[in-house]
Parts: sequence; C-alpha cells; structure tokens
Amino acid sequence: MAIKGPPQYIRLVTDHDLHTLSALLTPDYLARLNAEQKQAVETTEGPLLILAGAGTGKTRVLTTRFAHILLQNLAWPEQILAVTFTNKAAREMKERISAILGHSVEGLWLGTFHALCARMLRRHAGLTGLEPNFTIIDTDDQIRLLKQIMAGYNLDLKRTPPAQLLNQIQNWKDKALLPQDITAAHESALEDKRTISVYEAYQKRLLELNACDFGDLMLHMVTIFRHHPDVLAQYHKRFRYILVDEYQDTNTIQYLWLRLLAKREGNQSANIACVGDDDQSIYSWRGADIGNILRFEKDFPGATIIRLERNYRSTPRILAAAAGIIRHNEERLGKTLQAADTEEPGDYIEVLSLPDSDEEARTIAQRAQKLHQEGETYAEMAVLVRAGFQTRPIEEALLRANIPYQVIGGLRFYERAEIRDAIAYLRAVQQPQDDLAFERIINLPKRGFGTVALNKLRSEAAGQGRSLQETLKTLLTEKKLKGKAADSLIDLLDTFDHVRVTMDKEGHVVAAEQLLERSGYLQMWRDDRSVEAPGRLDNLHELIRALADFPTLEAFLEHIALVMEADSVDQNKDRVSLMTLHAAKGLEFDIVFLPGWEEGLFPSQRSLDEGGNTALEEERRLAYVGLTRARKKAIIAHAASRRIYATWQDSIPSRFIDELPEDLVKRIAPARRSSSFGKNSWQRDTFGQRPALGKTASPAPPSRFAIGTPVKHPRFGNGVVLEADGDSLLINFENHGAKNILADFVEFLK
Ligand code: ATP
Ligand code: MG
Repeated sequence: MAIKGPPQYIRLVTDHDLHTLSALLTPDYLARLNAEQKQAVETTEGPLLILAGAGTGKTRVLTTRFAHILLQNLAWPEQILAVTFTNKAAREMKERISAILGHSVEGLWLGTFHALCARMLRRHAGLTGLEPNFTIIDTDDQIRLLKQIMAGYNLDLKRTPPAQLLNQIQNWKDKALLPQDITAAHESALEDKRTISVYEAYQKRLLELNACDFGDLMLHMVTIFRHHPDVLAQYHKRFRYILVDEYQDTNTIQYLWLRLLAKREGNQSANIACVGDDDQSIYSWRGADIGNILRFEKDFPGATIIRLERNYRSTPRILAAAAGIIRHNEERLGKTLQAADTEEPGDYIEVLSLPDSDEEARTIAQRAQKLHQEGETYAEMAVLVRAGFQTRPIEEALLRANIPYQVIGGLRFYERAEIRDAIAYLRAVQQPQDDLAFERIINLPKRGFGTVALNKLRSEAAGQGRSLQETLKTLLTEKKLKGKAADSLIDLLDTFDHVRVTMDKEGHVVAAEQLLERSGYLQMWRDDRSVEAPGRLDNLHELIRALADFPTLEAFLEHIALVMEADSVDQNKDRVSLMTLHAAKGLEFDIVFLPGWEEGLFPSQRSLDEGGNTALEEERRLAYVGLTRARKKAIIAHAASRRIYATWQDSIPSRFIDELPEDLVKRIAPARRSSSFGKNSWQRDTFGQRPALGKTASPAPPSRFAIGTPVKHPRFGNGVVLEADGDSLLINFENHGAKNILADFVEFLK
C-alpha cells in the first residue's frame, strides 16, 4: 500500500516536539522545572539568592539543587549544609531528596538552625566548658534556675519577673551578645543593671550543670567559630554547598552563624544559596531581620540573583487576592506573581459573614463536610487562625460534626497546660474527692507546698482513707501545719468553699471566674512575662466562655471527659489540619479556611495599639501567607461578635477584607435565623461598622433611639448617638471616633 502524506523525516518540527526532545535529553528531575528554576538549580557555583513570591517553587528548587549536586558528583552528602525553618520541613525535604535520588541518604547536615548547632556543639563541647553529653534544658528549668540566681542578687521577683528576665537574656542571645559584650548602649535599656550579672551567673551555672538552653546552642557555636579559627576552617573545608530556606526570617545570630560558615579567606565564599520572600517575613517579633535578605548582595559580592515569578500553587483568583492585600504594604521589594495555568481563573474567594464566633465555627465545619461529600479529602483542608484561642470553638464544631482533625504546632485546646490546670481547679471544687485534680493545683501558683510536703500529705490521707482535701483541712484546723504554706492553703480551701456558694447563687460561669481569680492562678500568668503568657490568658478566658454553653459545671466537665476520650481513639489519617498562620509557613492545602478576619483579632489589637505601620505590615504579610497556602479555594470568615468571658463583644470586619479586590470575592451571609438565636440574632445588618459591607441588610425599622443620647460601650467607652437606623446606631465615641454599633451592645446613659 502506498504511503500517503509526507514521509516522516521531512515533517516540520513543532514547539511541542522540541519540548519533548529537550525533556528526553535532560534528566527527569530537571525536566520538572521551568527555565528560571532550572537555572537556579544548575548555577551550583558561587553565591545565589532566589527572591520570589509564595508558591513559586523555592523549596522545590532547593530540594532539587541538593539532589542535583549529589547526582552530578559535585559533593558528598555530608558536604552539603541545608537549613530549614521547622523539623517538619526538614523531614519533608529529606523525603523529597530521597525520592529524586531513588534511595535514602543518611548523614545529611539537613535541619533547623538549632538542630544543626546541637550536632556541631556535641563535637566541640569542650571548647565552651561543656561535656559532650550536655543536656538541653526547657523553659521550666530555665525559670527555676533563674529564680535561684535572682534570690542571690536580692532581685525582687515581683518587680523583675523571672520570665521577663529570661526574655531579655534570650534577646541578647539572639543578637549573639555574651554578658561581657553588653555595652552601655544595651544597658541603658535596662531598669535594673543587676540583670547583666544575673545573665553572667546564669551562664556560669549552666556550665556547672553541664547544660545549655536553646539559645546557647547557637550562641556557643558562634562563639566557638569566632575564637577558634581552626574549628571554623574544618567546617569551611567540609561544607562546599550551603542551602537556606525561608531566609527572610533569619535573626541576627542565625545570620552571623551562616556568614561565618559561608565567608572564606579573602573575598571567597562557599556556594551558598538562599531562598526567601520579603512578603512572607512574619517573625520580626522573634528578632528576625528582613534586612538580612536585602544585604545579601553586599555580603556576597557577585551573587547571582534569580527571581521566580510563576506560581504553581494557587489559582489566579487566589493569587490576585493575595496581591491585592500585600499591595497595601509600603515596605517591600515588589514582585509580581503569575499563575502557571492562566486559563482557569479558579473559584472566587469566599467571604463568610457570620453573626458570631460559634456560628463561624459551625459554618466552617458544615462547609468542610460538604466539600468532603463532593470529593475533597479532609487531609487537603486547613483552618488557619491568627490566635491559638480561636481553635476552641472550631475544634468543638468539628468534633460535633464528627470530622477528624489535628492541631499542628500546638496542642489541642483541652490538652494545653493552662487549660488542664484550670480544669483541675474546677474538678477540685466540683468533686472534693478528686485527688488527682487537687494534686495538680495544690502548689500552682507556688504555695510553698513542694513534693516532700505533698508526699507526706498523701501518706497521711492514705492512712486515714480520706481525700487529700479533707485530710488537709483537718491538719490545718488542728494547726499541725503552720507557717506561710499553711496560710496560703487555708486561703485556697476558703476559696473553694466560697466558690461553691457562688456557684449556687450566681451560676458556674461567675464561680469559675472567681475561682481562677481568687486562687491566684490568673495572676500567675499575668505576672509571667514570657511570650506565651498572653496567649495562655486568652485561652483561659476562652475556657470560661465555653462554660457558658453548658447548664452546669458538671455537664461541662462531662463534656470535657468525652472530648478527651474522642481524641485518643482518633487514628484517622484523613484529617483537617488546624494551626496558626505562623505555623503554616511553607505548607500548602487545596482548601484553606481563614476565620476571624476582624479588627483587633486580625490585624491583632497589639499591632493596632502600636501605631505606625511596622506591626500592621507584618500582620498584612501574615494575611498574604495565609491566602497563598491555598491551591484551589480560600474561604475567609468574620463574625460580627465574639464572646469574651460570657459577654458578647462586637467586632468589625478586618481591613484586609476591604483590601481584597471586589471582583474576586463572593460574599456569603447566612439566611436569617429565627429569634431563638437570642440576643445576637441576625435580625439586622450586624456587620456593624462598615456600611459598605451591609449588602445583606433588610430595610430597617424606624429607630427607637434619639439622636444625641449618651451611651457607653464596653470596649469603646463613652459616646453619643449620631444617627439611628432601627437598632443600628452610628455612635461618635470620645476616644474612638464614629462607629456603627448595634443598640444591644451599648448601655444608654439617659
Ligand atoms: P512558599 O513561599 O510558600 O514556601 P515555595 O516558593 O517554596 O512556596 P514550593 O512549595 O516549592 O514553593 O512549590 C509550590 C508548589 O508548586 C508545590 O506543590 C510544588 O511541587 C509546585 N511546583 C513548583 N515548581 C513547579 C514546576 N516547575 N512545575 C510544576 N509544579 C511546580
Ligand atoms: Mg517554601
């Protein structure tokens, strides 16, 4: 049979053919990169900075580069130093490298700054006066140690709380400052100059204990590098390649450590490749300095800079929304992001407007369930919150809907230490026989009743066959226990009695608040100056808030017991992930829920109080990080009111919602609920203070409130009614200006 058409060999070569051809000629792993990414992988020699937006493949480039160096026989595995931001990221990178190589590799210098330093320090411990088997102590130990030392310096623990001092020491360590390095300039910032002596004594004591704290891991290594050029030279010889992810979030000491390792004799440097995104710098509160990324070219002259602009993660709509928000920041290098596949715009960004935080949680759970029924997996859904306490109602809504979930980078709400403490207090009141609960809190806050005393009490109680509380009461009334400890324990048992009476008279919510207040437990956290303390207080307030959902304390405690039980049996891998926006850095999910976009929560009240733009811009970068975690769908939510304690506090939508380009957004407000919804009912436009958002409002009835009426609001203080539209009032507050507030939320002074 005759052959029709032109013979094969004169067929025109198309673009498609060329593409296939080059893919055939390049190794498989390089074929999966675009031109700029490929260049970044193949530019193995000399300093390299990859500056690129979210989802452009920075981490993929670093991983591929690692594998490429090995496959090209440019170095042995142990000659590459790779720094990641979290241990989780390190594990993932290791897996991906193994996947490219087709086998697993051991002995990699791949991990977080702290993990890498710990490994180095074990080898050179002697140079700092430590033994190689030194222990790394945790925060509790640090505080205990500091207190002992402070006592020796006659420092008032009230005026200078140990946790505050610890923070100060950590700040110094983050700046690579040893006690002797602290100059007058640093000193002037201190209220009490004895703190430097405490720092010095603390370091000395740690050495005596053959221990170091987290900050020391880096501090010791930088000190060793500075004073022992021979040691540094060993590492110079070893590490031919250095790779750093999330470079925008390195702090001073991390930066110094990297520079010491990378810079060589003369103007030489290691083959250092850093990747970062100035728009994702979200750790300045921990001393991270965005300047490090901007300084790269100066530090490493002749550096190659590569920009990646194609985003492979998110839909064009998600990208445009993220760009629309970050555009409002002034302090940025400015980058454009283009979606890789521009044909499908993708889903709209959904903005859910909800009456309150419980409804927000319920709606998220319902939405997740619906998406699951439509074929999405739970493992590809994440809920990213600004503050840890936000997870509580969401966790409960998920539990109620039987949706499996995990909390990443933190504990589930009821597993957190402060929540367990508070629950122990409640149990001890509810159930005086509950020795386990009582033991947990008998010396919390410190009442001078340590382990030895507790053991004695235990055996006494066991001998009499009575509960700890009963036994203690008898010992106290018979004056067999005396002194300061006795006084504070009498106070504690008194408080319990008092709270039981309050419970009968005023209900369990008021009683719980009274219990945590009078026992000194809340005060303990207020006095704590550590970074976590405000979050813990928020969690405790959230717990009290949760109590209001139950008719009695007993019902609440039973609920807790069941919740904890449900936790332990859940082995399912297909789970929704809950975490803070900070913890979500570098991760991606098909569907991302972003609840709590309200002024005062996100952006945080602290960033608003600070004034100026610095803190606010960091919040905006967080919003950018949050949105760019989503591949297919981003669902933002805000609630018109949140419950703090048992009272409602109204909140206005975040400015970040207003910054979203309108044409990308689909606003969804739930149908009106029946009046059984209570005080907060969704009768009117409860979006409150931004009329532009009030599109779902129904015509308002004429107002009952006269213009000029003086009012008082729990958060905004005194003001006067300017306009009234039904129950929706425009109020001019003395200190906060004009705001739309629902009549329910203010007290009328006339
Ligand atoms: P972030 O700033 O959030 O850390 P990133 O720049 O590190 O993001 P990656 O996580 O490396 O981005 O990549 C984002 C997603 O895009 C990943 O799922 C990755 O596998 C995919 N990806 C990256 N480059 C390509 C490419 N050339 N072709 C297809 N997919 C890619
Ligand atoms: Mg990344």
